[in-house]
Amino acid sequence: MKAARLRNPEASVPQSDIRELAGMLDTLADHAIELSVAVDAERRGNWRSGIDEDGIAWWVLDRPDKSVNTIDRSVLEDLSLLLDAAEAAPPRGIVIRSAKPSGFAAGADIAQFLDAATAEIAAMLGEGHRVLDRLAALPVPTIAVIHGHCLGAGLELALACRFRIAVANASLGFPEVMLGLHPGLGGTFRSLAVADPLEAMTMMLTGKAAPAKRARRIGLVDAVVEERHVLNAVRAAVGGELHPARGGWKGRAFALRPARSLVARRMRAEAAKAAKPKNYPAPFRLIDLWEKHGGSPERMRAAELESFSDLIETPTSRNLVRVFFLREAMRGLKDGPSDIKRVHVIGAGAMGGDIAAWAAREGFRVSLSDIDAKPIGQALRKAATMLDKTLRDKLKVRDALDRLVPDPGGLGIAGADLVIEAAPERLELKQSILRDAEARMKPGAILATNTSALPLPDLAGVLADPSRFVGVHFFNPVSRMQLVEVVKHDALSPETLRRATNFVAELSRLPAPVKPTAGFLVNRALTPYIAEAILMVAEGVPKERIDARAESFGMPMGPVELADRVGLDIAVEVAQTLAERLGMPLPEMPGWLHQMVREGKLGQKTGSGLYDYDEAGKPKKIHVDALPDGSADDPNLLDRLILPMVNTVVACLREGVVESEEIADGAMVFGTGFAPFRGGPIRYARERGVDAVIARLRELEMVHGPRFRPDPGWDRI
Ligand code: NAD
Repeated sequence: MKAARLRNPEASVPQSDIRELAGMLDTLADHAIELSVAVDAERRGNWRSGIDEDGIAWWVLDRPDKSVNTIDRSVLEDLSLLLDAAEAAPPRGIVIRSAKPSGFAAGADIAQFLDAATAEIAAMLGEGHRVLDRLAALPVPTIAVIHGHCLGAGLELALACRFRIAVANASLGFPEVMLGLHPGLGGTFRSLAVADPLEAMTMMLTGKAAPAKRARRIGLVDAVVEERHVLNAVRAAVGGELHPARGGWKGRAFALRPARSLVARRMRAEAAKAAKPKNYPAPFRLIDLWEKHGGSPERMRAAELESFSDLIETPTSRNLVRVFFLREAMRGLKDGPSDIKRVHVIGAGAMGGDIAAWAAREGFRVSLSDIDAKPIGQALRKAATMLDKTLRDKLKVRDALDRLVPDPGGLGIAGADLVIEAAPERLELKQSILRDAEARMKPGAILATNTSALPLPDLAGVLADPSRFVGVHFFNPVSRMQLVEVVKHDALSPETLRRATNFVAELSRLPAPVKPTAGFLVNRALTPYIAEAILMVAEGVPKERIDARAESFGMPMGPVELADRVGLDIAVEVAQTLAERLGMPLPEMPGWLHQMVREGKLGQKTGSGLYDYDEAGKPKKIHVDALPDGSADDPNLLDRLILPMVNTVVACLREGVVESEEIADGAMVFGTGFAPFRGGPIRYARERGVDAVIARLRELEMVHGPRFRPDPGWDRI
């Protein structure tokens, strides 16, 4: 019955639903075995293999006990055994595909590189290259059939086949650049040989994946078919009826070095806009590789190996790999479903509007209330823009907007599984809103606050049932900042904490559980950074210089611009709260800043703050090179900004505000954009040398006072 289905592709299962796809693939993997006419009926390590009635071998990658295929040494070793057999007795053709519903393969198993020594990595790569070269050299048609994700080393495996047939849902990409690397298993020269070289370079430089149709257009795959036509396409390839266009005129043009040099210059300029070569060397190394060796696959192959081995040793790559695992660790905090379907958000301002829109985007039914009708309208308009930008699909945007309901009267509170309060940061106001919401909520629903800095016990204290009250502290802008601090307090029930954490993960955000001390982790650590910058502005240092210096360190945004983004009113309030509640020795806020707040110059949201803003909400800045000669500077500028932030994270670890160094670093990277290539503040301190950082803080303390005093927690770092 199953075999008949495979032989008669028209009778196959339609492929719209992932569960059906899963079933189909299981069936397919079984077929490879059932249809085996002679040898190879058994699983060989990571692969299942068999020969079908047409004499075509099917090698199905199916890593045991894993839901996703990754490529590691064992996969390639097992492939080498299959190649031994195929070299000894070549079948008519060979199909490589995956038995996993999630896709072809998700890339290299990064864990294998983590603790490996340089020589070991080089040996692993060399061996990997030899195996894929043997696959590429087989005298029979080899065909990768690709569904779902086909990334990194998975794509490199597919590229070592003569043909690539993509199923319509496939998505192909080289994400290595996000780990401070470029492809290292032949992906550079093989992708350039088959695809439009400029498009292939762009994919490798940006890490952006290409859906099947686009991959076909640029030559990365040779055909795109529905799952039910796979077998016919395979037969066509084996029968010599599939004639892929390779490289096109661009392939020929860029075989010449002068043409490559011309474009390489432009690529370097583009790449430099996104990242500095010192901080993120990989894209620049890749451009060098292509410029120098793009005319010769052989030379490029050797140079790719060498360059990849160098890059994997760089602190940038090691730290980005660490950040990858930090993300995984935070995702791993999810523990089952949240059972939340309906969400109500109170307060449609900067945060409430964004949270509501994002929750609707992620599939929740959301109602949004405010004391004033105007912000609700504004929030809906902003939601439409964000959804257009991030979903890029009219139907999905429409569906998401349908799920987002304006609800001026707050009627949605009664039916919501989760109510999130995002009203202004004033204790009495929040207490009264929360009390009122609690009285209207259904049993079993969760009540949450988005407060930035107010201690949760002060809010929980006014509730009849504080066990179902929790903090979910989002960051601005919600669509870009992945972190959400899940704020605990003594009366919180474990079940509410679990559901809130799972809800955050269901929103595709990263949860970090924190204790409810003022400012939690991220705002507490950011406040000295912002306050010091404001003090420097008061000292006469041009704000553009301060921001540029922080950005050159790797922060996504300088502290002056950040203050404007947060809102000067909120920045002042948070600083006051931290000083009052924790006795944090922050620099005094200058009188003119309070005056600006009184005048309503609150930053980006009012069009003017420390900077003025254009219509698009961009700050009007003088380029740092155009600052007047002799304008004020401070040789300690960067340490004055960064070290208090690191010192505060150490204090938070000592106090148990955050449980582990990993979550602390992850929260700072995903909540503030703290230079990912530095791996987080604690990792940065370790790399710079803990003793050196303490000594530097002491020096700054001598000059500027106790706000730089090293925290006692450094003893444990
Ligand atoms: P906002 O001033 O932009 O929005 C607050 C909204 O609440 C306004 O639309 C206001 O009309 C409405 N509101 C006031 N009283 C209300 C009431 N009684 N009932 C219902 N709605 C009421 O403020 P925001 O920046 O969105 O901040 C909201 C909360 O989020 C604060 O607790 C803030 O600390 C926190 N937060 C802000 C940021 C940020 O960057 N702005 C980041 C994280 C958290």
